[in-house]
Amino acid sequence: MIVGAGIAGVSAAEALRKASPQAEIVLLSKESHLPYYRLNLTRYLAGQVEADQLDLHPQDWYTEQNIDLLLDAEIRTLDLAKKMLTLRDDSNMLMTN
Ligand SMILES: Cc1cc2nc3c(=O)[nH]c(=O)nc-3n(C[C@H](O)[C@H](O)[C@H](O)COP(=O)(O)OP(=O)(O)OC[C@H]3O[C@@H](n4cnc5c(N)ncnc54)[C@H](O)[C@@H]3O)c2cc1C
Repeated sequence: MIVGAGIAGVSAAEALRKASPQAEIVLLSKESHLPYYRLNLTRYLAGQVEADQLDLHPQDWYTEQNIDLLLDAEIRTLDLAKKMLTLRDDSNMLMTN
């Protein structure tokens, strides 16, 4: 389970998939859109790149890589002893790895 789907989180998921084709990978992001290339935000605002050039990968890539991308999933608390995450909506998730 990887919390945060910025470049660090997505790169970690990518590296884990390469190292372990069978690993269960859950990538959580508090944001509602696909992980994007932050460095291009200023270029986007300046009209130099299009919105569809911001995504790190298209939605299909996460499916093909068997990476479970959960958007709108903000972590509120993390209980390492219980291996339990609590999300913004008060739902709980058990960390399996
Ligand atoms: C407009 C802009 C331009 C930039 N330009 C440059 C540049 O030219 N060169 C350069 O080196 N750097 C630049 N940076 C900085 C660069 O974007 C960051 O260094 C980089 O994004 C850090 O990546 P990260 O994955 O560690 O963190 P982040 O990109 O911050 O990603 C963290 C992710 O975790 C998610 N998250 C946070 N808290 C939670 C939570 N509680 N639950 C669930 N998800 C959560 C966030 O929503 C986010 O998606 C720029 C940044 C911005 C905003």
